[in-house]
Amino acid sequence: MKYYILFGPPGAGKGTQAGAMVARYNLCHLSTGELLRSEIAAGSELGLKAKSLIEAGELVPDEVVEGMIEAKFKSVKGVGGFLLDGFPRTIAQAEALDKMLAKTEESVTACISIMIPDPLIQERIAHRAQIEGRADDAKPEVVQNRIRTYHAKTEALIDFYKAAGKYQEIDGVGTIEEVQKRIFAQMDQD
Ligand code: AMP
Repeated sequence: MKYYILFGPPGAGKGTQAGAMVARYNLCHLSTGELLRSEIAAGSELGLKAKSLIEAGELVPDEVVEGMIEAKFKSVKGVGGFLLDGFPRTIAQAEALDKMLAKTEESVTACISIMIPDPLIQERIAHRAQIEGRADDAKPEVVQNRIRTYHAKTEALIDFYKAAGKYQEIDGVGTIEEVQKRIFAQMDQD
């Protein structure tokens, strides 16, 4: 099985690119943000706990997302691999992922990182707020906090995957099709 991590700051275009990636390489798209939003919509206990953190632009606890991901690894069948979108977001989550995969003698295939500069992050999120209506996209202070959280806790994963020889950076500036071409050119070689 292939285990791809789709990495990048909020608004880099991970969700936008994921659809074409999973179709081309027969992957299961696992977005922890989407899984959490459906827990909130369903009014589950987990959703209730996550809601206030997400709406403040904070991360939910590592164990919560790790549990969701491991459950999916066990239950999803008939795919060539997984595309992890929004996970891992901390070094602790990346280490937990390595441990999870080691149980079946597997490992992360590659970390595909879509990079855009900070000013473009805010522009892209403002645009998405009008289209998708996500609560955490609507308030500028929450968007700011998500960008801060990305720099403080998530950006360190770049060095983590560089050290593992698995970091593949893609320029995320350009049209959806241009970025998609760059991603496919990279993944065709993995
Ligand atoms: P996303 O859709 O990936 O932008 O995620 C939306 C929100 O869900 C984030 O701002 C976090 O509050 C929460 N979230 C998603 N994935 C994770 C994760 N791997 N670890 C902690 N919190 C997460």
